[in-house]
Amino acid sequence: MRISTTGFRILLGVMSVLATAFSPSCSTSKGGNFNLYNVNKDIRLGKEVKREIERDPGKYPILPETGNEAVYGFLRHVAGKILDSGKVEHRNDFAWEIHILQDDETLNAFCTPGGYIYVYTGLMLFLDTEDQLAGVLGHEIAHADLRHSTRQLTSRNSAAVFTSVLTNNAEPGVLENVALGLLSLKFSRSHETEADLKSVEYLCGSGYKAGAAAEFFKKIEGAASLPAFVSTHPSPKNRVKRIEEKESEMDCPQAQSGSSEYARVKRLLRQKGD
Ligand SMILES: [Zn+2]
Repeated sequence: MRISTTGFRILLGVMSVLATAFSPSCSTSKGGNFNLYNVNKDIRLGKEVKREIERDPGKYPILPETGNEAVYGFLRHVAGKILDSGKVEHRNDFAWEIHILQDDETLNAFCTPGGYIYVYTGLMLFLDTEDQLAGVLGHEIAHADLRHSTRQLTSRNSAAVFTSVLTNNAEPGVLENVALGLLSLKFSRSHETEADLKSVEYLCGSGYKAGAAAEFFKKIEGAASLPAFVSTHPSPKNRVKRIEEKESEMDCPQAQSGSSEYARVKRLLRQKGD
């Protein structure tokens, strides 16, 4: 696959690149641990983000389930192995729905609060192995499971957001704006690192290579120039290093799925693009 710099929106964990009220300062903010919101607010916000995505098929072209059962089934299988690892704290609280966005040029995946997971076809075509895909999904699941979005909203301390999300009496349009803001949320560096390391924890003992997310970062490093990514995120090199350190620290069993199913799924996706 040819990847142009302009089409190369590689923003793993950056939910989108819209400019909104929330975007300018968040990339440098420290990721706090304090969370003023309860788990139900993550669920509510997630539903609202999903609604905003469905409202804008031009920007978020959802690949229909019908005719793509094999691709969806495969993604659910991989995500399911992580979700059923016994290590996902909000396994039974959140929706953990899988959606695919049909855009072969975008190397991205994201997960809203409350566990609505979106994976671009571009990312699926770019990755080589099921383990790499599991590593990336683990990272995205971690952002939701660790409740990074509401932790970030907490640290930003916006009265309008608190009023609309904490109470059920949102001013018209405010909740929608919060949801749209979440779509452009750039997680802090510390939250990115947390999600990377959590991915290793989830995968350790799952049958996938625990540090498979590192392979993704190695791969993108060689693929193109990454201005947005490098300026707002820990450098891929540092991420690889931390992930590999965590993997050896945990002493995970050597594993690799070795399945040929991913190659078949990629062939199906490529046929779609032709
Ligand atoms: Zn991320």
